[in-house]
Amino acid sequence: MTDLYDAVIVGAGHNGMAAAGYLSRAGKKVVVVERMAKVGGMTSSGYMIPEAPDYMVTPCAVELLFARGSGIIEDLELTRHGLTTIDPDPSYAYLHPDGQSIALFRDYKRTADDIARIHPGDGKQYLKFMEVMDAMMDIGFPIMMAEPGRPDFKTLSKLISSAVRNVKLKDQLIAISKGTADQVACEWFEHPATIALLNGIAAGAGPVDDDGNAAAYMIFAVTHRLGTGKPVGSLQAFANAMASSITESGAEILLNAPVAEILIEDGAAKGVRLSDGRVLRGKTVIATSDPGRHFALTTPARSNVA
Ligand SMILES: Cc1cc2nc3c(=O)[nH]c(=O)nc-3n(C[C@H](O)[C@H](O)[C@H](O)COP(=O)(O)OP(=O)(O)OC[C@H]3O[C@@H](n4cnc5c(N)ncnc54)[C@H](O)[C@@H]3O)c2cc1C
Repeated sequence: MTDLYDAVIVGAGHNGMAAAGYLSRAGKKVVVVERMAKVGGMTSSGYMIPEAPDYMVTPCAVELLFARGSGIIEDLELTRHGLTTIDPDPSYAYLHPDGQSIALFRDYKRTADDIARIHPGDGKQYLKFMEVMDAMMDIGFPIMMAEPGRPDFKTLSKLISSAVRNVKLKDQLIAISKGTADQVACEWFEHPATIALLNGIAAGAGPVDDDGNAAAYMIFAVTHRLGTGKPVGSLQAFANAMASSITESGAEILLNAPVAEILIEDGAAKGVRLSDGRVLRGKTVIATSDPGRHFALTTPARSNVA
């Protein structure tokens, strides 16, 4: 039996560490338990090629795109904790099998010019497409940065004023939010290379033939507006900076500490039991890996408690 924590956080991926960072800065006593040997979860690197542990391949995330606009880098002072980034320009390039290419520059007009080299009509369309994507970012970004179920007043007013400002784009915005990425790319553009560039970017967010996945094209607006932000030292460097920041603000991190059970008492999660038998008690448990796994870990026979 150990001390009582305000929060026991399962998983030292970036969401677990973000929760720990904000809670510990608010004066809460927090512990983060991680089954792996290092922090970062899907933003860690080094596990994919065991023969080259320092090889900078991350399982999923590659850049700070959305993190940049979220305020987390500033709030947790990650630069002071060693985070440095670079912005290659162009950030991405699409290479078509016939030898042609399109570069995605920070400046969307320059990107449109690059597309126009191979298809003038698509170059012009990209400018119009970006107008819609910019509107989508203005409307969608604030809600992504807030608690989606309970958006605060400031977020709601930002969202509503962006929606009103962009009302003339309503039909295009609705079509893009509902359509598949492939459908939308084919409706807006003609050249196979332009269509493939769009599908390639959307594929990073999910299958391009899923309804609603065209909303992933907001990534274009984010890339042009905020840049991509590649952390020097791969995303592991981002995770390490978070770990350093949250440790400084008082959070504990336990590595090689798989949670074997989330303890449910009186209808609420009240702690965890680690696979080595240690029990960590908390007023609350924040579980950050997939919900299915966590329901499976809850105390047997009481897992009907949400
Ligand atoms: C293809 C792809 C590309 C992406 N690209 C980007 C990108 O460029 N930029 C970006 O910001 N995001 C990107 N993302 C999203 C990003 O990688 C994830 O959203 C993010 O890493 C999830 O963080 P998390 O903390 O929620 O979960 P995870 O990183 O999965 O963390 C969960 C942690 O819990 C631990 N854990 C699980 N079970 C237990 C247990 N029983 N006991 C203790 N610990 C446990 C795991 O080991 C892990 O460390 C991408 C995602 C995908 C799929």
